Amino acid sequence: MIHYKIGSSHPAAHYFDIDLHIPHPDPQGQVLRLPAWIPGSYMIRDFARNIIELKARGGERPLAISQLDKSSWQLAACEGAVDISYRVYAWDLSVRSAHLDTTHGFFNGTSVFLEVVGQADQPCEVLILQPTHKDCADWRLATTLPHKNPGVAMDDFSFGLFQAEDYQELIDHPVEMGLFEQLEFEACGLRHDVILTGNFNCDYERLRADLILICEQHIRMFGEPAPMSRYMFLVMVVGDGYGGLEHRSSTSLLCSRKDLPQPGQDKMSDEYRGFLGLCSHEYFHSWNVKRIKPGVFDDPDLSAEVYTPLLWAFEGITSYYDDLAVLRSGCIGQQDYLELIGQTITRVRRGRGRLRQSAAESSFNCWTKFYKQDENAANVIVSYYAKGSLIALCIDLKIRQLTDNQKSLDDVMHSLWENYQNQQQGIGEHEIQKIINQTCDTDLTDFLEQLIYRTSELPLEELLQTMGIDLAYRASSGSQDKGGKASESTLNCSLGANVKDNNGSLKLISLSEDGAAQIAGLSAGDEVIAINGLRANLQSYHDWLNLSAPDSEHQLTVFRRDELHQFTVTLDAAPQDTAVLQISEDRHAARANWWQRPAEA
Ligand code: ZN
Repeated sequence: MIHYKIGSSHPAAHYFDIDLHIPHPDPQGQVLRLPAWIPGSYMIRDFARNIIELKARGGERPLAISQLDKSSWQLAACEGAVDISYRVYAWDLSVRSAHLDTTHGFFNGTSVFLEVVGQADQPCEVLILQPTHKDCADWRLATTLPHKNPGVAMDDFSFGLFQAEDYQELIDHPVEMGLFEQLEFEACGLRHDVILTGNFNCDYERLRADLILICEQHIRMFGEPAPMSRYMFLVMVVGDGYGGLEHRSSTSLLCSRKDLPQPGQDKMSDEYRGFLGLCSHEYFHSWNVKRIKPGVFDDPDLSAEVYTPLLWAFEGITSYYDDLAVLRSGCIGQQDYLELIGQTITRVRRGRGRLRQSAAESSFNCWTKFYKQDENAANVIVSYYAKGSLIALCIDLKIRQLTDNQKSLDDVMHSLWENYQNQQQGIGEHEIQKIINQTCDTDLTDFLEQLIYRTSELPLEELLQTMGIDLAYRASSGSQDKGGKASESTLNCSLGANVKDNNGSLKLISLSEDGAAQIAGLSAGDEVIAINGLRANLQSYHDWLNLSAPDSEHQLTVFRRDELHQFTVTLDAAPQDTAVLQISEDRHAARANWWQRPAEA
């Protein structure tokens, strides 16, 4: 059997040491390859750049290796088993790669395990060893990779021998090692663990209680039993971080300390609400994208981009259900939920990119556009997460409207799940649309094509009305205003720029196309030091936009790089780009059906 061994004799230098034993290599010259990207994060990352000291032996003799390209190598022809050894530099603190020091270790298989090309469908085993450094002596190990010894209990967090049915499984179970906190619970009878690494405070009981409700909500929506035999949230807690990546029976999360519920605080903070949404999002992916998936993801080529126009569904529908499930589980109330929808609408509305790129185009080009955003991104691209979740909202409300609330997007997800269970394969580009039409027994093709393949505005006002919800727009109240809530003080004017504090002055992060700043000649990256001859900072900037009149002229003194410039700006009236949702009238029964909660007054 293909056998991997991973350990570290030098964690302080961030090196994992890997040995690979191949009993039956291709005698003509075995090819080895490391993925260039990791499923769930659609960008070429070239993990192989972190491989060093690659060596091979055939029996007792060194074997020559020739490199084929940036991610693959070929061994010299030989008879019999071969042994490979190499090191991987692991110093990327993200959910996508690998990270190792004397405080903890984390890896995805895509960063550390070379694929034995031609034998990817073969079972393999991996021995995971404790790093030999003295600071690692008390470390434990957490992963959903199955133990090779079936007698090992689920709460055994020891190092040892693990197994995988094939290479795809091997690389779909991230591994955390260190002195983590561990918390366990059952949801619908299924064992769940939360592994928390870092320096933090947490109200564990509250986190446990909320996650039980959310996980049960998802399992019951798709129907018991859940498709995993256990589930693990691997959470890295840092000062300032955010990220999540879905796997078949676990997720890797990166969060900030303040995202966790704090002991002694019962209030729902915006940060904790966001963290529950993230956990909910990744958990929903266990069905939507890890199992129900685009056909091109069935056996994806991990050496190059794999294109699909369907991420609006796999990320967008997941983004729609992440907050909806947190509401349905009762962890947040309807005001919170309306605020979250309002924020998503605001995000999409503030970018001109929504008028230039459809959700399907955004999906297809995610490799080079969404994942490689620059300062002009909001003008030219739309997020398939944010717009995708609004498309899902529109589809859900449309089905409910047409069927008098007898059917919904939940039924579409049930059908997709049933089809997956029967066929065990990915779906074609128009499969979801077909199922939507069947679900409401109406041909919605034109409606759906508009949402997914066009750039026209979504019919949000009209559809939210069917639930007795008014959607209105107001001007922003300042650079911290994400929308979703009413505001007493909105800005009078707009510079057409996103700004941030720059040690007391102002930095322009991005400019709206044809906004006041761009027309005046300002650019992203400019540092504004004075407005009308007075020192500029975040407070004086907001006061200025508040007290000025639209179409009035102003002098801005700006550093571009190290050159001083003067610009004359004619301010715009502040655009009505910030969404606020409000319950307007009786539709209690419809909302209660949608939210699966007793309707609040
Ligand atoms: Zn996602």
